[in-house]
Amino acid sequence: MDNRIRDLVIVGGGTAGWMTAAALADHFRGSGLAITLIESSAIGTIGVGEATIPTIRRFYQALGLRDLDVLKATHGTVKLGIRFDGWTGDGAGFLHPFGVYGQDLRGIPFHQYWLRLNKAGHATDLGDYSLAVALAQAGRFTLPSPNPPSTLSVFDWALHFDAGLFAQMMRQVAEQRGVRRIDARIEKVERRGEDGHITHLLLDDGRHIAGDLFVDCSGFQGLLIEGAMQAGYEDWSQWLLCDRALAAQGHALTPPPPFTRVTAQKAGWRWTIPLQHRTGHGYVYSSRHISDADAEAELLGAIGPDLKMAPRRIAFTPGRRSQAWKGNCVAIGLSSGFLEPLESTSIALIETGIEKLKQLFPRQGIDPYLVDEFNDWSRREMERVRDFIILHYWLNQRGEDFWRDCRAIDLPDTLRHKVELFRRRGHLVRYRWEMFQPASWLAIFAGFGFLPEESDPALEGADIAGLRRGLDGMRQAVAQAVADCPTHQEFIDHYARVEMPGGRQ
Ligand SMILES: Cc1cc2nc3c(=O)[nH]c(=O)nc-3n(C[C@H](O)[C@H](O)[C@H](O)COP(=O)(O)OP(=O)(O)OC[C@H]3O[C@@H](n4cnc5c(N)ncnc54)[C@H](O)[C@@H]3O)c2cc1C
Repeated sequence: MDNRIRDLVIVGGGTAGWMTAAALADHFRGSGLAITLIESSAIGTIGVGEATIPTIRRFYQALGLRDLDVLKATHGTVKLGIRFDGWTGDGAGFLHPFGVYGQDLRGIPFHQYWLRLNKAGHATDLGDYSLAVALAQAGRFTLPSPNPPSTLSVFDWALHFDAGLFAQMMRQVAEQRGVRRIDARIEKVERRGEDGHITHLLLDDGRHIAGDLFVDCSGFQGLLIEGAMQAGYEDWSQWLLCDRALAAQGHALTPPPPFTRVTAQKAGWRWTIPLQHRTGHGYVYSSRHISDADAEAELLGAIGPDLKMAPRRIAFTPGRRSQAWKGNCVAIGLSSGFLEPLESTSIALIETGIEKLKQLFPRQGIDPYLVDEFNDWSRREMERVRDFIILHYWLNQRGEDFWRDCRAIDLPDTLRHKVELFRRRGHLVRYRWEMFQPASWLAIFAGFGFLPEESDPALEGADIAGLRRGLDGMRQAVAQAVADCPTHQEFIDHYARVEMPGGRQ
């Protein structure tokens, strides 16, 4: 029997659906794979998802799009990292940058030198050794050097963008590469008896759309992967207490900060995402610790007169689809699971979902080996992100009930292992399929003041005065590099300014 995959059907036209369509159409160009995307403009998309991590740039660059064009077309701004305000108590904050800290020497990581000096009584701020942190704090930006003279000049950047405009760009790429779009509501999913595979989708205009492989990008509901295939859901609310979000919009910030701000609130945290034409605001909270009405009042109080669009409430269950691929159905995007947007990881997980599908594409028919590998990879990757997010909550130093409950959770073993190795020896473990580099873990540990009991024993007899001179030199080099850069506003005005009708929005 010929089981060759010839017709691929993508269900959903949100960020996940159009990114999948664009990337697969590009990858399989000329191979005879027909791709159809079905979306319902009557249903619409989730309409949030504005902060990204640097992998998004590699994603669209692979499709032939250029940074400054995307920045402009999506009314975007630059993101150098995330600023955490109030997580260690009111009035305090730190930055998680897209970049590294200092310079490693003699095979010993930089942070061990920094720790050694700390222990010798010369405490400095880790952020002073990161160009990304220093640029963000100064509100400055320039494109990173393609040939950095030293690791002190190494940093990366991502975008804050209008997700709807980005999806439109992806749609354009997909349609140019031959993707067929159908605007209709799917009313029924037909499966065949012998193996339970999906055969057809019945649309509200009476059409039947057949396919060999279906990608479910239908959002939280998982129309195919759960509604038809019943793949199951692993609920992670014992570790991640937040289960609601309020998403609102405010007027543009002038000048726009080149970072996402996440501010601790009574029962969760609030995001501030600057775009050129508006600011995204939202409150992610635990419904067990605050009522919807109180959360809304807290959010509105924080936004004040800058409010432009009233909050919309979104309920969610943190967790993942037990099998992201079941039978001939693969889930990508919200249908595959959800982790709150604290570290802007959902779109990045869409990218890796697409990458996995490209690498494991079952052209000759559904193959259990490929399916198992996809599921194992997805599970580990999502668990790593989950652990990273849990760490932020677990290390908090706030007094409200919600925050105390976050400190009291029982850590997953994978995270406990990481925490203990860092606590004992400053060792940063990196697992396979890990989205966040050791520097990111260091940013969070150090940002919360969670420092190791000892530094590298090789530095026990170090010349402290010499070490101090070396680290002072690094800080000065970073400060000098920042002083020479334009402001973020100047950068946007020069390269990516979008004129809005009526000026400031
Ligand atoms: C509060 C919140 C904040 C977030 N912030 C970020 C962030 O800052 N950064 C980040 O990376 N991610 C963020 N995310 C996640 C991000 O929004 C999503 O990952 C992204 O938008 C992808 O969504 P999607 O395409 O999977 O689903 P959706 O946008 O929900 O799209 C679903 C699609 O399926 C279609 N559909 C559904 N049912 C049918 C049907 N019966 N027939 C036909 N079509 C149908 C819909 O019309 C739509 O086109 C956030 C999520 C939430 C909830």
